[in-house]
Amino acid sequence: MQIETHTGGIFDTNCFFLPAHGILIDAPQTALAWLKKRGFRVSTLLLTHAHIDHVWDAAAIRREHGCRVGYHADGTEMLTVPGYFKRLGMNWEIEPVSADFLIEETPKLTVEGLDFRVLLVPGHCPGSLCFLEEKERISSAATCFFPAASAARICPAAIISSCSTASGKNSGRSATT
Ligand SMILES: [Zn+2]
Repeated sequence: MQIETHTGGIFDTNCFFLPAHGILIDAPQTALAWLKKRGFRVSTLLLTHAHIDHVWDAAAIRREHGCRVGYHADGTEMLTVPGYFKRLGMNWEIEPVSADFLIEETPKLTVEGLDFRVLLVPGHCPGSLCFLEEKERISSAATCFFPAASAARICPAAIISSCSTASGKNSGRSATT
């Protein structure tokens, strides 16, 4: 499966686009410009979690692309209350983005013709989701932790990794914030 990757924003946050299905996973700062530059059209935007660096461009992408946006209900306050991040002491604010559909942990979520197994993994952020596409063994998790802050630069392909859990092998691509 073709997977296109973009890394943007001050945290070097990754997003992934599956061109055959029009699925974008996460929406960091500059994602909208990247999509335009590459000529990609988004049908569905899936958000792994509601931290500001993953959702920065979400509202603009929905507006420009007319796409559906899905995330877990526990991200709703962060994503819809104006000034939420400023109240946390951050000097940033995002445009609120409501969900077109909410996503729960489920053995099967069909999005744009692609079946995902969805895991709720809220340790990093309330409502964090992991999307597993088991046919081609693609996984997309919100965040993994590296011993060094520079890991995102070392592994810019982050978040989506072509995992082979049965064999214990991994493509070597793994995650970030
Ligand atoms: Zn995060």
